[in-house]
Amino acid sequence: MTAFIVSHDELCTLESNTSNDAKIRHCAEYTDSHVHTIDVGYGEHSSSAKLLFSCTVRPSEWDRLIAVNDERIVHFYGTHPWYYREHDQKRLVTILQNDPKACVGEIGLDAKHGVLGEQMPVFLEQLALCEKYGRPANIHMVGCENEMLRVLRKTNVTAILHSFSGPESYIKPLTDCGCYFSISPRILRKSEKNIKSLLSVIPDDRLLLETDAPNTDIGIEEFLDKISVILDVETFDLKRIALRNAMYVFS
Ligand SMILES: [Zn+2]
Repeated sequence: MTAFIVSHDELCTLESNTSNDAKIRHCAEYTDSHVHTIDVGYGEHSSSAKLLFSCTVRPSEWDRLIAVNDERIVHFYGTHPWYYREHDQKRLVTILQNDPKACVGEIGLDAKHGVLGEQMPVFLEQLALCEKYGRPANIHMVGCENEMLRVLRKTNVTAILHSFSGPESYIKPLTDCGCYFSISPRILRKSEKNIKSLLSVIPDDRLLLETDAPNTDIGIEEFLDKISVILDVETFDLKRIALRNAMYVFS
C-alpha cells in the first residue's frame, strides 16, 4: 500500500469510529483519478484534488512527468492507443524499475480511432508490465468492451477504466475482473435517469471520479456536486467513497 494522504488502515480506523466524524470530514479530500497535469492547458483547468492520478499518452511526455515532484500526484506512464507506434517498452521498464510508485497509463484500445489489431500488441506489452511489477493501469476503452473483457480476464491487473460511461451490461463482468469505473464529466451528456441507472450498477467500492483535465469544462468540485445531486447523496459521502476507492487501487 502506498501512503498518500492518509493510510488505508488509518482511514478504516476513522471510518469505524463515528465519534471521529469531524476528523473523517477533514481527511476526505477531493480525488481525481485521471488528469493530464503536464498537458499544455492544464494550468487553466488544474484540479483542486488532493490526490491526482496524472497520466501520459506518449513516451515524449514521460520525462516531464518524471520531473514532477508533488506528493499529491501519482505518476502514470504509458502509450495511448492513438500513439502506439511511438511506444518505447524498454524505457517504460526502466521507469517502473526506478520508481516503485510509478503506475501505467494511459494505455488501452480505441475502435473509433485506428485498428484494434494494430493497437493490441502495444497494449498487451504494457499490461504485462503492470502484472510483472504489480502496478495499476489507467485504461482508455472506446468501442471495444468485448476485446477489453477478453484481455482483462486473462490478467491479474488492477484496471481503472477511465471516463467509463457504459454499457451497463459490461459492469458485472468487468467488476469480476477487478476493474474500477472512473466516471468523468462526459457522463453528464446522458440523461439523469440514465446516469442514475448506470451508477446503480457500479459497486460502491469500484467507483472513482475524474475530470480528465484539461479535457474538461468543469472542475472536480462542480462535477462531484452535480453527481451528488443526481444521486441524492451527500457530497461528503461521495468524496469519501472516491478517496477510499482511489486508495484501494494500491492495496
Ligand atoms: Zn486522458
